[in-house]
Amino acid sequence: MRMVSPYTSRGGGSLRVKSKFGLRLILAVLVLASGISFQPHPSFAEPSFVALPKIENNKVAPRIIYIENPRFPRVAPNELHKVALTAADLVKEHFGIEVEIPSRIPARDIDDVFAELVGNEPSGFKDLIGDFRNGNVDWEAVGENLVEKIEKQKDPLAKQIEFARPYLIRPLEKEDVTSFSRVVVETFKARLFHWTVAKLKDGHPVIGEVPGRPDLPLNEYGYWTLMAKQGINAEIVLTNQLVASVEYIPVPVHTSIRGGITGGSTEYNPSSRFGSSVWVSLFPYLSDDPHIREYRNGDTYTRDEALSYAGAMLAHEMGHQLLQLGHPWSNEACPMRPAEMLDFASWVKKFDVGKCHIGSSPEMKTGTMKAPIW
Ligand SMILES: [Zn+2]
Repeated sequence: MRMVSPYTSRGGGSLRVKSKFGLRLILAVLVLASGISFQPHPSFAEPSFVALPKIENNKVAPRIIYIENPRFPRVAPNELHKVALTAADLVKEHFGIEVEIPSRIPARDIDDVFAELVGNEPSGFKDLIGDFRNGNVDWEAVGENLVEKIEKQKDPLAKQIEFARPYLIRPLEKEDVTSFSRVVVETFKARLFHWTVAKLKDGHPVIGEVPGRPDLPLNEYGYWTLMAKQGINAEIVLTNQLVASVEYIPVPVHTSIRGGITGGSTEYNPSSRFGSSVWVSLFPYLSDDPHIREYRNGDTYTRDEALSYAGAMLAHEMGHQLLQLGHPWSNEACPMRPAEMLDFASWVKKFDVGKCHIGSSPEMKTGTMKAPIW
């Protein structure tokens, strides 16, 4: 729940069109985990937010489903359990809540799930999404949103640059917001484009059209948000799909520099017992793509490591979902502090419940970050 801001739509490439669209809709944006949530609603309406869930006896029993893309690395049922059990251990240790894991995690085919979403988008929804697959993105608008985001951060510009510098694809011309945002956008663009060229084992691009398969927006963050809004019957959604995309909303620097990959997020879901559902993509843990390895600081993970890091990400999202905790950036001992790039090994190593209690900082207070209802 970082901010509520007017969004700049893609428009037709002209500033006039963009600002006109911006007046028509307001977007409530929040930064959750590596992700973001968006909420188009009429500009006259006050955004409302998911209430803090009531948890009895510090016990929860979430329904978990697995959404599978048959093209992506397979994840066996016992592996899904390992992810859930690792998350349950961390949630117990760090948040004091016992999580009962269902004995069976039903799987659904991703094409079936997305076929129900496509055609049921609210008006204005598609205008938020940058069509990078067809090279049709208004990167200038992305840059404008990025500048807005950079200027709203509590951290000074120099600190933001220092954080991002090792991951940028080229040096800055100057240490100012214009040069910085320009190079961040170039980095975003190049890294997102990579997925339209990099191939899966079937010889087709990670993101793109595949002969014999329906053309669905499986990689689009917005549609994973829409899935929750449309009330998918689960509190937890796991998937092997890569989610990487660009939206015309203020996206944080740390999401931009890894090319728009979203590892998971917590979203308003009217069918969820907690008011929101979380989804986590297992791809960043299971993939051995050279770009993914670069974002992991060169690491290759064993299968067990990959699954347990994915479990840590799930626990992070459950901290948003169950207690509505925020992001304590200054305390590395907290699972609620997002991982840098996709460097999960060093992230998990620093977890220390003794140094990060509930309530130990403003971001670690319950009810800090709430998913918007849209
Ligand atoms: Zn988060």
